[in-house]
Amino acid sequence: MEQKRILVTSALPYANGAIHFGHLAGAYLPADMYVRYQRLRGRDVLYICGSDEHGVSILISSKNEGVTPKEIIDRYHEMNKSAFERVGISFDNYSRTSLPVHHETAQEWFADFRERDLLTRSSEKQLYDPEARMFLPDRFVVGTCPHCGYERAYGDQCENCSKYYDQTELIHPRSLLSDADPIVKEAQHWHFPLGDFQEKLEEYVASHEKDWKDNVLQQVRSWLKAKLSDRPISRDLTWGVQVPGEEEGKVLYVWFEAVLGYISSTKEWAAREGTPDRWKEYWCSEDTKYVAFIGKDNIVFHCLMFPAMLMAHGGYVLPDNVPANEFLNLEGKKFSKSQNWSIELKEFLDEYPADPLRYTLAMNMPETRDSDFYWKDFQARNNNELADILGNFVNRTAHFTGKHFDGAVPESGVLDETDEAFLAEFAKTAEMVSANYERYRFRDAVVSTMNLARAANKYFNDREPWKTVKSDPAVCATTLNCSLQAIYALSVFIEPVLPFTAEKLRHFLALPDDAPLRWDGPAEYRLPAGHKLGEKVLLFDKIDDKTVEAETAKLGAMAAGDEEEERTYPPLKPEITIEDFMRLDLRTGTIREAEKVPKSNKLIRIIVDIGSEQRQIVAGIAKQYKPEDLVGKTIVIVANLKPAKLFGLESQGMLLAGSTEDTGPVILTPLSDLPDGAQVK
Ligand SMILES: [Zn+2]
Repeated sequence: MEQKRILVTSALPYANGAIHFGHLAGAYLPADMYVRYQRLRGRDVLYICGSDEHGVSILISSKNEGVTPKEIIDRYHEMNKSAFERVGISFDNYSRTSLPVHHETAQEWFADFRERDLLTRSSEKQLYDPEARMFLPDRFVVGTCPHCGYERAYGDQCENCSKYYDQTELIHPRSLLSDADPIVKEAQHWHFPLGDFQEKLEEYVASHEKDWKDNVLQQVRSWLKAKLSDRPISRDLTWGVQVPGEEEGKVLYVWFEAVLGYISSTKEWAAREGTPDRWKEYWCSEDTKYVAFIGKDNIVFHCLMFPAMLMAHGGYVLPDNVPANEFLNLEGKKFSKSQNWSIELKEFLDEYPADPLRYTLAMNMPETRDSDFYWKDFQARNNNELADILGNFVNRTAHFTGKHFDGAVPESGVLDETDEAFLAEFAKTAEMVSANYERYRFRDAVVSTMNLARAANKYFNDREPWKTVKSDPAVCATTLNCSLQAIYALSVFIEPVLPFTAEKLRHFLALPDDAPLRWDGPAEYRLPAGHKLGEKVLLFDKIDDKTVEAETAKLGAMAAGDEEEERTYPPLKPEITIEDFMRLDLRTGTIREAEKVPKSNKLIRIIVDIGSEQRQIVAGIAKQYKPEDLVGKTIVIVANLKPAKLFGLESQGMLLAGSTEDTGPVILTPLSDLPDGAQVK
């Protein structure tokens, strides 16, 4: 079969947060490995992605931070784009859905559907903010839950009882935008007739029963079984792609326009290359094989909705495969930005190189079920596999060649069986790894790749060049020649998973101009004898236990800090009048004496000077304060409290302290000097 042109996309990350490991292992690393492999095969492959920059979450973040939505998307677009680059994700184009090319593309698609009478329009009741003059998205309205009476329930779901409802069912709804009482108003919305594509989609999915992953097929089948229904494609929002020909505040639903971002990003790429029509070669040709990499939360959009849109439009290629990954967890728990249980790519790359991370994630890729990233595993993969096998083999070969052969490729003597078998491994590895990449089995591909490094390390050991260098120099030269050929082979085969290391190997080999940087190179080409090698390079630094402990502890500490935020507060007391408050006589006073109350481990007795007189007060503060630290401090006391007896001592008032379960009492003092006896009110 003639090889087709290949179009690869990765899910557009949402520009409202930083990319973390879970994202990387889901839709980006496997796609990048696939693309790099296909490039080495010499195939015409284009890798497209970009930031998804619309939707209500971005608007909410902008309101919360008091900045414009543009500031939010600019921040995260730049942050994620740079993190992707640093971890070696080799997009041909990384675009943004806020660009004019995308707005135009999405509007064209909508207008085309509307003109052909594909879309339906219906009205629904929605809350409208008369002051902000806009319909309220669910997250912009709070009110009393119609089920449990919780008073801060959002428009779609109650955080207290978890029930879902329509925002118009909220009791006493209130706009979070203006605090106004919203009114119920009819809103007109456009719908895409997904239900009409049921049969066509069933055929489409059935035609891929043999090549799509089980996790993908299962999810898609259950949607099809439940029967597809029409989906709204417009909503009332001030941030997004304007619905063409309608009043401001009506935008295309993100699910509809974001997937078109793949097409607009390809257009942007083609224009930049100076061939503005070339995007059509990838999107509108039977000769294209389109592969869409995503995480499992995106399956329904990429296997049903987007294909239905492409079918509805006509003339576009459908995804040939949608190799969705399951989720990657972190140390046994889900990644959670809000709970700080996460490792952001940017922060990680400030401390560690990219390749060991790519390798660890590839070896734990959640291809068929959820998997985990563990710091301990990262350390073990880096130290025991990358450094001790691959790094060690390259290092010994380089060192030995430098020392005994003047840093040049030695002449090979007659090859014996072991040498022949070793060199034959290159072609076998190429074939095996290739089969795995073609079937989207990334972990297996990396295991097979590393097996060549293992074989090379073993070959070097078994041949004992440190002995033959004296006893049989010709054999020694042959061993080193074969070892250097293996480094060349590895520099090609590891490239998809370890691109930065591959680059270092090529630098060390100082590859001759005629050496092919192609997948079949190692099977066909040999470095010539006498070829001068480059500088030795260090491939992998080991990671020590202390580092791993510190990183793991950091996660724990962040999570503990988070629990404090979830503290429940004692209910507020009933309202009082100012007169009620004025009945209290609060005074400042200086502590003159302080001592622990004998036989009590909680109580301290203090003498407080309130100007007009001195008071003895017994307070339960011995666990928090030492008596000697209290003397001389100015505090506030309730001076007209009826005296009480504690441990046989009269307490003539009470000192003011704030307290929580965690802190115990913390004494309040004035911010600046106040004379004794000042009234506090
Ligand atoms: Zn509720």
